[in-house]
Amino acid sequence: MHCPYCSAEDTRVIDSRLSGEGDQVRRRRECMECRERFTTFEFAELNLPRIIKSDGTREPFSEDKLRAGMLRALEKRPVSSDAIEAAINRVKKKLQSTGDRECSSSLIGEAVMEELQKLDHVAYVRFASVYRSFQDVNEFRAVIASLEEEPHGRK
Ligand SMILES: [Zn+2]
Repeated sequence: MHCPYCSAEDTRVIDSRLSGEGDQVRRRRECMECRERFTTFEFAELNLPRIIKSDGTREPFSEDKLRAGMLRALEKRPVSSDAIEAAINRVKKKLQSTGDRECSSSLIGEAVMEELQKLDHVAYVRFASVYRSFQDVNEFRAVIASLEEEPHGRK
């Protein structure tokens, strides 16, 4: 980041905070050369890939759909909305981090299952049973068994 006063390259961040809807970072910087201070705004680039559905058609990523699916699984479960929003953000980050312009819907499904497994086991089983539409009873048993192997102390 160049100093707008003397164009020195050596500036340091003295304060950093989220602004806007939490999708901008406002930074106070100080130039190490002339000691002038200035403010920068940085935007997180949210280039989420398009989703390839199982029938091969494409659709834009929809955060609303993602949230609706998770909320359906979490209905009446003791999970705070903060925890849910944080999980949604992690799913979005995961999609972004692929760097691909398109990704299969199963990638989202797996990411959601991973989050739900940490949040709430009942929600996880609900989501998994719909999402995987368990081919057979053994598959369902395997999921239940994998949950039981988890260390206790978390609900
Ligand atoms: Zn300067």
